Amino acid sequence: MLTFEQLATVINGVLVQFVQPLPVVHLLTDSRKLSQPAGTLFFAIKGKYNDGHQYLEQLYVQGVRQFVIEQGRAEDLRCSYPDANILQVQNALEALQALAAWHRAQFHIPVVGITGSNGKTIVKEWLAQLLSPDELVVKSPRSYNSQLGVPLSVWQLEPNHTLAIFEAGISQPGEMQKLQLIIQPTIGIFTNIGSAHNEGFSSLQQKVEEKLKLFSGVELLFYCSDYQEIHGAVEKQSIKTFTWGRNRKDADLFINSITTAGHETIVVYTYQGNTQRVSIPFTDDASIENALHCLAFLSQRGVSLAVMQDRLDKLQPIAMRLEMKEAINGCYLIDDTYNNDLGGLAIALGLLANQPRRGKRTVILSDLLESGLAEEKLYSKVAELVQAHSVERLIAIGLVISKYKSLFGLPAEFHPSTGEFLQHFSADDFRNEVILVKGARVFEFEKIVHAFQQKVHGTVLEVNLDALVHNLNYYRSRLNPGTKLMVMVKAFAYGSGSFEVANLLQFHRVDYLAVAYADEGVTLREHGITLPIMVMNPSPDSFAKIKQYNLEPEIYSLELLQALLQTAEAGAKYKIHLKLDTGMHRLGFVEEDFDALFDLLQDYPQVQVTSAFSHLAGADEALHNDFSQQQIATFRSMATEMEARLGYKVIKHILNSAGIVRFPEHQLDMARLGIGLYGVEASGSEQEALRSVSILKTTVSQVKSIKQGDTVGYSRKGIAATDMTIATIAIGYADGYDRRFSNGIGEVLINGHRCPVIGNVCMDMCMVDVTDLDVKAGDEVILFGPQLTLVELAQRIGTIPYELLTNVSTRVKRVFYAQ
Ligand SMILES: *Cc1c(COP(=O)(O)O)cnc(C)c1O
Repeated sequence: MLTFEQLATVINGVLVQFVQPLPVVHLLTDSRKLSQPAGTLFFAIKGKYNDGHQYLEQLYVQGVRQFVIEQGRAEDLRCSYPDANILQVQNALEALQALAAWHRAQFHIPVVGITGSNGKTIVKEWLAQLLSPDELVVKSPRSYNSQLGVPLSVWQLEPNHTLAIFEAGISQPGEMQKLQLIIQPTIGIFTNIGSAHNEGFSSLQQKVEEKLKLFSGVELLFYCSDYQEIHGAVEKQSIKTFTWGRNRKDADLFINSITTAGHETIVVYTYQGNTQRVSIPFTDDASIENALHCLAFLSQRGVSLAVMQDRLDKLQPIAMRLEMKEAINGCYLIDDTYNNDLGGLAIALGLLANQPRRGKRTVILSDLLESGLAEEKLYSKVAELVQAHSVERLIAIGLVISKYKSLFGLPAEFHPSTGEFLQHFSADDFRNEVILVKGARVFEFEKIVHAFQQKVHGTVLEVNLDALVHNLNYYRSRLNPGTKLMVMVKAFAYGSGSFEVANLLQFHRVDYLAVAYADEGVTLREHGITLPIMVMNPSPDSFAKIKQYNLEPEIYSLELLQALLQTAEAGAKYKIHLKLDTGMHRLGFVEEDFDALFDLLQDYPQVQVTSAFSHLAGADEALHNDFSQQQIATFRSMATEMEARLGYKVIKHILNSAGIVRFPEHQLDMARLGIGLYGVEASGSEQEALRSVSILKTTVSQVKSIKQGDTVGYSRKGIAATDMTIATIAIGYADGYDRRFSNGIGEVLINGHRCPVIGNVCMDMCMVDVTDLDVKAGDEVILFGPQLTLVELAQRIGTIPYELLTNVSTRVKRVFYAQ
């Protein structure tokens, strides 16, 4: 095992302090993911939005004793962290990468490096699955393929592994060379090239050449020679290759034909003069391509056709998605039926540990597959992980994990199979628990998820948490480093689900949250949100609750202030936010109120003005630029006056989402992000930079044919101009599907086709025209999403996206997912 002194040479660091010899077992780059302090080495990395040095103290208190840092005076560090080993380097990320590269170099096994625009993760997972009978495979967890993810993946290499598969992803020139040095692949797979993620590259050719750098040292490179850009670029280099494809006759593995039949695809191919056929248990183009990469790989290894077919038959789709949703008896499910291996389990347990606490933390876990470890060692690691993430209840399913009962020290039950668990399943055994469901595919844990789901009608609002984070980071990138960020989670987080969104924002360390009413803030507190929360519309009778739950009221009038002061006790502290009216004419103080306002405040030193703010009435439209500038100037002058009278500084803020984009020079101390987080760029100029966050979906209940002249729905408003086919879909205005979409104003998407609404939207249903389309009961219907945008739909009925989002009724189930 690597010691700290060796580490200093490996990563070229200066020893600031060496106190005790300690093993380096776990590499930590994110303080929130600490699980086993002993043996952890923390790298204080400076990222775009964060700086690891801020968390040294907290980690030290939690027991971490080994640090790699970039800055700090040696004496101060020794004084603050007397028991810690500390190394100083120029760049902590590069140090982490150097350490991983060193670790990689200790192993002399085949290492497969995979890159390409799509399919990296699936090809990796499938190859691991296909090779698992012959090899002890280590691979990147999930899609850990970035500058940070790759070193952490490579660090998993252990002496008993016989083959490694790591994926590499880049978004800018210069990145691949670094990943190559860490992975040092001996075999390459270049999956494909598409136009996605073009941002950092000037041309497709540049992108291909950059990606090829991963393969500079490989003994063999697999790729599909039908991709001309890839083929052209590879030809210019002297890499030994294995190609497959159907366009070029010289492909090593030539594809004669691909035909789909039912649920499978038959591939006829010629390899080494023999023409053979295999069947692949998928029919979509992406899966076929991914499977053909695997076919090429296995063929080159000399795996026999019979064995290959047997293994291909067992390929399973990889659920890339992790879902979070409400379940029976107040339980909350984290549904991660992605493949179950150690790396993936550690990530999922980390997520569980970061859920705000309701009741118990429970894990339902299957046997682990595809590990390079001996069983006993594997399950003692599992037990260690479960313990480290403070799991309180374990339900283990599988014959293998059951053998190692004695390793698990917590309340646990063991079942031989999923079927056996479900036979004994009783909903009453689960109450208010956060339950992680984590099983390998063969265990069919979707049946368990199904048992836990509340009965709901088929309409769901799917919220993409990765897209939320993307949008959050986009707005952060528009702010100066020191500007604070308050995020508006009023109105059920613009319809997206309040505490889930708030929890994500807390995890990503925004500075403030804001809600409209005290009750919304109370709900957040009850779900474990500890961020400061501003309440914009506090009523006098809510002040007691506001105090009790440590919320901070917006005060917009003298009457409201007086009401608060009546409840203010002498010893306590009260934080308030003063709203100034600079032209919106909704709520807020005007300059004439100042004398009375500050006289009052003077008498109550326990009341502290934390911030002062105003709201722009037309930040999204250039038409109102002069007015906005006027509002900003008024605000600045009022705030200056206010600080002079108070005798202390307050946090000043005026920009909303559109303002952040359009008036960045006026961000002051804080900005208030709203609609932009949820994927709508209100000013319209930078919509491309945001990702769509929510998809509203329902299902087709019935399909029927009607005759020319027939009418559809209430008031017989829908009239069939010709014979037609219509579908009744399970959503109506009570779900938030606006009645103004009636009679062809609205369209929905079914199987990729736009279908106009026919007749009036009913309370719980409506009808759409599906004439000439292949639509059947049970098909999915999209009401809005990336292909049918809120902006377009709002325009059609003369409203704004805000209204469509917040109208989605609470009876519509929210499902949160991450990829
Ligand atoms: C809702 C709200 C915001 C956010 O506005 P967006 O247009 O959604 O960015 C900002 N400030 C106040 C006072 C608000 O009420």
